[in-house]
Amino acid sequence: MTEVSERATAAESDAGTPAASGGAAGSGRPAVPGGAFVVRAAEPPDVFTPERLDETQRAIRDAVREFVTHSVAPRQEAVEARDYGVHRALLAELGEQGYLGVDVPEAYGGAGLDKVTSLLVSEGLAEAGSLAVTYGAHVGIGTLPLVFFGTDEQRQRWLPGLADGSIVAAYALTEPGAGSDAQGIRARADLSEDGTHYLLNGTKQFITNAGFADLFTVYAKVGGEQFTAFLVPRDTPGLTIEAEEHKLGVRGSSTCALTLTDARVPVENVLGEIGRGHIVAFNVLNVGRFKLAAGCLGGMRPTIDRAIAYATDRRLFGQRLLDLPLTRERIATMAERTFAVESVTYRSAGLIDTLLAGAHGEPERARAALEEYAIECSIAKVLASDGLNVVVDDLLQLMGGYGYVEDSGVAGLYRDARIHRIWEGTNEVNRLLVPGMLLRRAMRGRLDLLGPAKRAADALLAPEPPVEDGAPLEEELRQVRAMRTALLVAAGAAVQRYGERLEDEQEVLYRVADLAIALFAAESSVLRARASGDALQADLARLVVASSMAAVERGTAEVAARVQEGDDRRMVLAGLRRLLRREPVDLVALRRSVAAELVNRGGYRV
Ligand SMILES: Cc1cc2nc3c(=O)[nH]c(=O)nc-3n(C[C@H](O)[C@H](O)[C@H](O)COP(=O)(O)OP(=O)(O)OC[C@H]3O[C@@H](n4cnc5c(N)ncnc54)[C@H](O)[C@@H]3O)c2cc1C
Repeated sequence: MTEVSERATAAESDAGTPAASGGAAGSGRPAVPGGAFVVRAAEPPDVFTPERLDETQRAIRDAVREFVTHSVAPRQEAVEARDYGVHRALLAELGEQGYLGVDVPEAYGGAGLDKVTSLLVSEGLAEAGSLAVTYGAHVGIGTLPLVFFGTDEQRQRWLPGLADGSIVAAYALTEPGAGSDAQGIRARADLSEDGTHYLLNGTKQFITNAGFADLFTVYAKVGGEQFTAFLVPRDTPGLTIEAEEHKLGVRGSSTCALTLTDARVPVENVLGEIGRGHIVAFNVLNVGRFKLAAGCLGGMRPTIDRAIAYATDRRLFGQRLLDLPLTRERIATMAERTFAVESVTYRSAGLIDTLLAGAHGEPERARAALEEYAIECSIAKVLASDGLNVVVDDLLQLMGGYGYVEDSGVAGLYRDARIHRIWEGTNEVNRLLVPGMLLRRAMRGRLDLLGPAKRAADALLAPEPPVEDGAPLEEELRQVRAMRTALLVAAGAAVQRYGERLEDEQEVLYRVADLAIALFAAESSVLRARASGDALQADLARLVVASSMAAVERGTAEVAARVQEGDDRRMVLAGLRRLLRREPVDLVALRRSVAAELVNRGGYRV
């Protein structure tokens, strides 16, 4: 969907955001508004980390891993061969264990659990290959439209089956002529003469689970104009499921087009309000992105274990591959990325849960909390999907020709990773959404950007000096503050220069998004490492900060050079250089130390 489409949607639904508890007392606003990391430092208690999982959550995490090992692995070949029967059977088993109902309220047969638990299940299933795709589409974009927008009757009718796996769900938004530009769909719905049915006509493209799904959320425009969501059972007359696509990766998942030819859908199957189907479509994507980040994270951790295991066994030039410095550097960099993604994803889940304050089973509240943190969800999606692609590529490269052949299993991982940068909003679209949503929140008075941007401009003239002898990671925290100032200066200058025309400056918006991503990753990593007191985490956080600073240095310089001219440009660029100045760090030594500790711990045991 385009940034424009989603922007319009969020603007509308912001108005309907219910005041949630967990917010600032009496204000009806969350204590930590979505996007607040851009303007102010977080308090450590606001940053949820994997170390803070409670016993129940740890038990669920372990149980999901067990499920993959004992129930999925023996049937993996059938899953990848697209044996629908096996997909359905495994979904039913997942339902029996309660994993399909994590986000479904108890009143409708689910468990209504917290978002951290939701994260843990998606993360744990990442190693289930294409089953993870079937599962993700079913519990996320498939089930959540009903959870968030169904009437009581619709929920009673469908949700228990979706939660136990007897009904499989799919989400049909994309069309041949409308992917990112989802508002441009052409499928239409016309009321039958007797007023009992809508007749749907059009084509839907790339629909996950379509080969065996029982229930589709189909988006079409009533009268060709009013964007609306419909619940369309598989046996609807006029609905045809087309042939399976031949894909680069996730080949065991089902992806088909749908053709709707006067498909007769009863009026009671309208989901949400007529003309407000975009609210359904886009709200659900916030969850989709968050779950997708968790799934990518689940794929990242094992790549490091595999890299260490392979490099330990492989001998060349009379020594272990593992003992070559470049191998260790690669392993350390893979861990750095994974640590950043992990810190960001858990922090985002914690923010959502804090806002929900235990009301996980209340769909309206859950929807609003996810929307509040839509910026964080987009960031997690981009960081995690880019990260997964890089670490899988690293693993393959480390294995040389053995990574390239099918038997290693890494070739499959490489293909499977690629899709995550495309769906749930491409990474370009998600990046463009980040500054768009920040500005919209500022315009709606939900986030003060102006004050901090002015203070940042002043701070540029008198930056904080480096910390000489502070507490652990004190200097890194100072650098995080400097990054925030630099981002605010660059983004503020861009807004001042272009105003409403900023939308046309996609390159600038893209860089501002990358600055926000770098800042969020660095702050989340440092606060996590400080809270845990773990030396390996501290070193990983130092690496994340070093990479983030380099990205912020480059990004802010490019933005400033674009939006400023003459003396102003020279002054701002000099100010940014002063602000981002830091003592050189021996990153080679740091990475060697990180790799040695990972090897010592036998993998990514962070
Ligand atoms: C395996 C698979 C499964 C899928 N499952 C589902 C599903 O279950 N349900 C469903 O509805 N859809 C599904 N999709 C569709 C998927 O969500 C879309 O492919 C995705 O949204 C991108 O749309 P598109 O392919 O039309 O690319 P386009 O929208 O044509 O994008 C082409 C390029 O333009 C870029 N771009 C787009 N907009 C902008 C912009 N505003 N500014 C700058 N660049 C831009 C994109 O980043 C991309 O690089 C699936 C796709 C695949 C491949």
